[in-house]
Amino acid sequence: MSDAYRSMWKELGLDLEAHDMLLGVLGNAYQEIYLSQKERPEGMGYFDFVMSEVHGLRIKELLDEKAAGRKIVGSYCVFVPEEIALAANATLVGLCSGADFATEEVEKLLPRNTCALIKSAFGFKLGKVCPYLESADMIVGENTCDGKKKAYESLGHLVDNLYVMDLPQVKSENGRALLRAEYFRFKAAVEKLTGSVITTESLKAAIQTVNAKRKAIHRLSALREADPAPISGLDALLANQVFFYDNPARFTASVNKICDELEKRIEARQGVFPAKTPRILISGCPQAVPNWKLPFIVEGSGAVIVGEESCVGERGTRNLTSESGQTVDEMMAAIVDRYFQVDCAIFTPNAERLAHIEEMAAAYRADGVIHYGLQFCQPYLMEAIPVEKALEKKNIPCLRIETDYSMEDAGQLKTRIEAFVEQLKG
Ligand code: SF4
Ligand code: SF4
Repeated sequence: MSDAYRSMWKELGLDLEAHDMLLGVLGNAYQEIYLSQKERPEGMGYFDFVMSEVHGLRIKELLDEKAAGRKIVGSYCVFVPEEIALAANATLVGLCSGADFATEEVEKLLPRNTCALIKSAFGFKLGKVCPYLESADMIVGENTCDGKKKAYESLGHLVDNLYVMDLPQVKSENGRALLRAEYFRFKAAVEKLTGSVITTESLKAAIQTVNAKRKAIHRLSALREADPAPISGLDALLANQVFFYDNPARFTASVNKICDELEKRIEARQGVFPAKTPRILISGCPQAVPNWKLPFIVEGSGAVIVGEESCVGERGTRNLTSESGQTVDEMMAAIVDRYFQVDCAIFTPNAERLAHIEEMAAAYRADGVIHYGLQFCQPYLMEAIPVEKALEKKNIPCLRIETDYSMEDAGQLKTRIEAFVEQLKG
């Protein structure tokens, strides 16, 4: 990394030594997990570049945007509407983290039995290694699961720009009214932050920009229906992860470019794995960068992942926002309609999620489902049991995994996953 980046990180207040260590580990993992894959689409070169510059060029771009008067909003959840941030002259970036860091320090603030995702977010703050977090003018927390809700109370003492969004837990009329009120409150807060009032034109343009991103991902997902699979689950997951960081228009163009290439591969019956390789749908907790543990093990065990029922995946990108609204109020209503359909496990009851898992298994012709639950994540671990039962009724094999970010259980997971893949072959 260039000296210019080092001074940029220093100005952001990063701990350079710890940050070097993180980038070293990340680089090695990327080499081992991603660059060692065979038959990757050429278009993945763009995502390799993005990852190599994830703390470099992209941060410089964000700082340049700030210098030009835009604001940066950081978010930990797919319920924070990117459309509203964009329309108010702000850029939204994901802050969810997929690696353990500064765990000892974190456990002075949070109980040990907190999920890895929340601990990681704290570790990146306490360890001073996340340039996205340090670039953000506003950090949005949300009242989703109990772990996050209470953790934000502590995060509020570590950062001075935390904004907490309340969220419904029931899909009722009252729930919708709460979401609507919270999205209007968020709109006012972002407008205040940026000094820009959201107009009909700016909101329409923002809706179109975010829809284009989602459409590109929908196109990519649909191409994964093919057998042989034209792209690995690891690479498709990476595109879904970069969704949260990249410049939206450039991201859309890059995903569409890969899709053009995959269409040609499908025509030529060219795949990353042989035809009839067992096909797996992953369902459950979000897999934030650089959490590549499960797909690495699954695809190293003779199976291919064909879809992610996850917030870093189809739960996060499913459904477009209607572009037909003619006023800011109509478009805000369309945004509420779109996000109110997100079937996070914090909702009760949450039957839509079960239906979506079955639909996805059928659409992507999955032979089996692996339910991925992070340890101590009550919403998803609780839902894993009805998910498994519903799939059993449809004769779809399901393996429930409960894990964290460490590699300590990698051997044990591999054994279980290999046995599951053998079962699917049978
Ligand atoms: S799993 Fe729920 S809380 Fe987590 S990002 Fe998705 S919607 Fe938000
Ligand atoms: S993984 Fe589960 S416990 Fe962790 S933040 Fe998400 S919903 Fe909450």
